Amino acid sequence: MVRVHIGLGSNLDSPQRQLRDALQAMAELPDTRLVEASSFYTSDSLLPGQPRYTNAVAALDTELAPLTLLDALQAIESDQGRERGERWGPRTLDLDIITYADRVIDEPRLKVPHYHLHARAFVLYPLAELVDEAFVLADGRSLRALLAACPFVGLEKL
Ligand code: ATP
Ligand code: MG
Ligand code: MG
Repeated sequence: MVRVHIGLGSNLDSPQRQLRDALQAMAELPDTRLVEASSFYTSDSLLPGQPRYTNAVAALDTELAPLTLLDALQAIESDQGRERGERWGPRTLDLDIITYADRVIDEPRLKVPHYHLHARAFVLYPLAELVDEAFVLADGRSLRALLAACPFVGLEKL
């Protein structure tokens, strides 16, 4: 079993319900245990003209290999009505692999740690609820330093 962190996001069709349903679906994945979920946070969309987002991070323990886990998460997104149109368009559910144990992964379909983690308060602050203060990403960056460089601005903790 390895510890992984999944970023959840939604801004369509009852976002809080989408996140709760996704947590339940992840808890039911084979060879996987849902350890804990962060609080939910809302924030304005980074792109204008979209509804506000609700985000959270979940910790899972899993025996699924990285790409198998990605496939499973994309299946949950599809089950919950995710349509892949324009990049960064509004969505019922986004599930991103934020960390996968101490692995750095650089494959066409999967980059871990998530490539834009450092700029996303809605990922960093919920992640910080689930790990200890000295947490260091697989690429050597400390969460403490990333938080210091990414102020808690525009986030509302529910
Ligand atoms: P962003 O990647 O900026 O958060 P997004 O989550 O909206 O945008 P998606 O449309 O969900 O992007 O995914 C696009 C592709 O990103 C997926 O098909 C997947 O193969 C790839 N991808 C690369 N790294 C990851 C990761 N760490 N977690 C999830 N998907 C990833
Ligand atoms: Mg995403
Ligand atoms: Mg995604």
